[in-house]
Amino acid sequence: MTAAVRSTIVGSLPKPGWLAVPGILQAPWKVAAENLDEALTDATRLSVESQLAAGLDVVTDGEQRRRHYVWGFLDGIAAVDTGRLAMKPTRGQRFRQEAPVARLVGEPEWSGPLLVGALNAARALTDRPVKVTLPGPMTLVDSLLDETGRHSTAGLAMVFAELLNREARALAAAGAAVVQFDEPCFNIYLDEAREWGVAALQRAAAGVGTTTGVHICYGYGGAEVADWKAANRDWSHYQQSLALVAGTDIDQVSIETAAVGVDIGVVELLRGKDVLLGLVDVGSERIETADEIAAGLRRALDHVTPDRLFACTDCGLVLRSRVAAAGKMRALAEGAAIVNRELGASRPPG
Ligand code: ZN
Repeated sequence: MTAAVRSTIVGSLPKPGWLAVPGILQAPWKVAAENLDEALTDATRLSVESQLAAGLDVVTDGEQRRRHYVWGFLDGIAAVDTGRLAMKPTRGQRFRQEAPVARLVGEPEWSGPLLVGALNAARALTDRPVKVTLPGPMTLVDSLLDETGRHSTAGLAMVFAELLNREARALAAAGAAVVQFDEPCFNIYLDEAREWGVAALQRAAAGVGTTTGVHICYGYGGAEVADWKAANRDWSHYQQSLALVAGTDIDQVSIETAAVGVDIGVVELLRGKDVLLGLVDVGSERIETADEIAAGLRRALDHVTPDRLFACTDCGLVLRSRVAAAGKMRALAEGAAIVNRELGASRPPG
């Protein structure tokens, strides 16, 4: 029997309104410090349950225990100040002139797993495979101001690739089914991605001992990003970024096609990789239909075998309402089920 198309999400889900202000990135916690750990555990339970209720095959902790996908890692690194911020031009100034960033004030050090607790909390709730996301080294250093003056950008990316590798190995040892590196900057700094970004990514993923992935997108569903997507006419970035990662040992590649003018045929560049195909717009509350998801999957199946294809979101769902996120996840699972019935495919057990 044919192996089945599966469904999953990129990583984040909205946080409950009692935990953090909905609809904004890096929202401060609303819960008092003495109750925060309990609240984060409760939020993780809701997040995993919502994915299981939707019928997703691979789940995450919804990134409930971190305020932001980059800072969830940086918060635990010595010599990085995520409290007093600096302003810096980031993301090639594609969306705004400057953004608040953490500051590097000494030699960065990894002194033990930062996200294994979040992984364990999710794994305790399900037998389904659990994915953990980490920022990719290029995107991480773009979100950081080096106040030591000791590093080139490429050099600093390699320093952090080493620290990310230690975290990734710890996550794999603790049972992560997938460790995914988020590298939206691969669709921005095309020359630098080729010159050193891909080498840093490979360093971060080297010898991890579980399935590795990379997520490359055009950004979250916030207003500035949505405005840029609406005005942009050049969608050729993936021709370069996907060709780069195609030559690596990374097992999975997550891409965005729903909210942008990217043709799904671009997955041809990823032959031999698992493809997490973004078919859900994370910038809109409109819930995609299962038929829309199925249509996108059918187009990808001209280029990817079913066992390597996942119905997925474009990016993290953190900015959406919980109702919309639940509906969008259900559409992903139902769309995959439609295609699997056509294929006569069986879902893997568990
Ligand atoms: Zn993304």
